[in-house]
Amino acid sequence: KRQKNIRNFSIIAHIDHGKSTLADRLIEHTGMLTEREMDSQVLDSMDLEKERGITIKLKAVRLIYTDKKGEEYIFNLIDTPGHVDFNYEVSRSLAACEGALVVVDATQGVEAQTLGNVYLAIDQDLELVPIINKIDLPSARPDEIKQEIEDIIGIDAENAPLISAKKGIGIEDVFTRIIEDIPAPSGDENAPLKALIFDSYYDSYKGVICYVSIKDGVVKPGDEIIMMATKKVFEVVEVGITTSSHISLDKLSAGDVGYITASIKNVKEATVGDTITLAKNPTAEPLPGYKKVVPMVYCGIYPAEGEEYTNIREALEKLQVNDAALVFEAETSAALGFGFRCGFLGLLHMEIIQERLEREFNLDIITTSPSVIYKINKVDGSTVEIQNPTNLPDQTEILYMEEPIVSADIMTPTDYVGAVMELCQNRRGTFINMEYLEETRALIKYDLPLNEVIYDFFDALKSKTRGYASYDYELKGYNESKLVKLDILINGNIVDALSIIVHESTAYNKGRRICEKLSQVIPRHQFAIPIQAAIGNKIIARETIRALRKDVLAKCYGGDISRKRKLLEKQKEGKKRMRMVGEVEVPQEAFLSVLKYE
Ligand code: GDP
Ligand code: MG
Repeated sequence: KRQKNIRNFSIIAHIDHGKSTLADRLIEHTGMLTEREMDSQVLDSMDLEKERGITIKLKAVRLIYTDKKGEEYIFNLIDTPGHVDFNYEVSRSLAACEGALVVVDATQGVEAQTLGNVYLAIDQDLELVPIINKIDLPSARPDEIKQEIEDIIGIDAENAPLISAKKGIGIEDVFTRIIEDIPAPSGDENAPLKALIFDSYYDSYKGVICYVSIKDGVVKPGDEIIMMATKKVFEVVEVGITTSSHISLDKLSAGDVGYITASIKNVKEATVGDTITLAKNPTAEPLPGYKKVVPMVYCGIYPAEGEEYTNIREALEKLQVNDAALVFEAETSAALGFGFRCGFLGLLHMEIIQERLEREFNLDIITTSPSVIYKINKVDGSTVEIQNPTNLPDQTEILYMEEPIVSADIMTPTDYVGAVMELCQNRRGTFINMEYLEETRALIKYDLPLNEVIYDFFDALKSKTRGYASYDYELKGYNESKLVKLDILINGNIVDALSIIVHESTAYNKGRRICEKLSQVIPRHQFAIPIQAAIGNKIIARETIRALRKDVLAKCYGGDISRKRKLLEKQKEGKKRMRMVGEVEVPQEAFLSVLKYE
């Protein structure tokens, strides 16, 4: 049977442990691509990803491997995103596989993200194949790391290949483990079609390209297909597989991983996690695990001074065609005028969209401080969800409020346990437990309000542990919390775009810090500008930006023209991303000043 020689697998790893390098090596060893074609790191295809060293969009690559006995195998290597914001996509791409390679850096050991991804893989019943990478480094500790994998992950690591993905050492061993340890797919070709969409993206020529794992049945061009979650019907135009490019085939059958196109106009109609079946002979049940992705973090996006509102709408629409997780709607701010409220999976997703708007669409935008979704239980018995602090009902209407809580796994060298716990405590964390993984490392579990994590938690954690700690989290639920709206007044006026919802206990501190920060980033004007923080009518902090005494240009004494021009240019540059709020020029930085408060 054909399926016997298919292996569908992913590579999971903590960031920088060598996932992409190993993927490249596997591709290279199967000779699918010439080195020139490879353009180093095929799987991380977006520029942004390369720069940030993270994999955002997952893809599949088919490799043909011939073992020493001349037996030919089809390997479908499925790439997974490497960030907690995209955990749902990770779980779906894992669901497309029968096994996963767990790459662990021989100098670092198991980290929080390794564990987070391993949990996701175990949820999908995948066979885990441990791989110890970077054995070429002098500080590699392969034996200790094997022990650690057994202790922490609980899988046998005795036969784990010891490899150097970079130097190409031990790669054959990896192939052997894939063949021997990862089960072949076992779908039924004669059953009704069941295909899992584990990724989809919009292509301007072909429409949406759905990456699918065929669990049962067969799909061919001309077939009428149904997306079981959205109930949309399409006619298949093309099916195929991806190597270095798309190769169309006459059909995809049970066990295959490949792509389907069907003139689909928007990724929302072919969402990740959905099951495709045939209209003529549909399957009774969709595959388990489908979830509609919901944004966790919201922020406002407004045109900077001189930018057009409609340009932003068009760009957001274009991005949305390719990003089912991005949501937006028009909103109006008293301070900033017309703009958009946008929802994201997390802070990284938010930053990616902001950067794409700026770089790919060349837009000057102002983004307001991010907010999570709060549940407001009102006196009249109703519950509302708000993600814009401005919409918080009057205090007299509120019975109590709830905020989202995440459960976080933090791994740290034992030297920093105190520092980590202090940080979590300061972020209103609830200690759950602590385990020593080895003598020198600990796993600390905390429940933390998402609202404390989305700001600079990760940076703070890194700086308090000299970069040694790692963390991973998942949404746990909602908890009642004493929250208040903190308003910021510039020149006596509340700037709605700067309002944030904070816990009562941290309001004073945050108010003071934000005022300080704003007084540093807002340039001096011809007049003095008071900056105040307030809860309701009560002012809790205040700073003043002193008036400019002289015109800046006066400093040039009208003499040196080129110097004068430079100064003007510099001012222009600095002005680029700012907005007039009343009489005051407020730079973009100011709107994000709430992000960093430690
Ligand atoms: P990813 O984040 O898991 O995809 O990790 P990458 O594959 O991007 O690798 C992170 C860094 O580790 C890069 O600088 C690689 O060159 C380096 N690296 C990967 N594998 C090895 C290895 O076997 N030995 C050494 N010395 N460095 C490696
Ligand atoms: Mg990578």
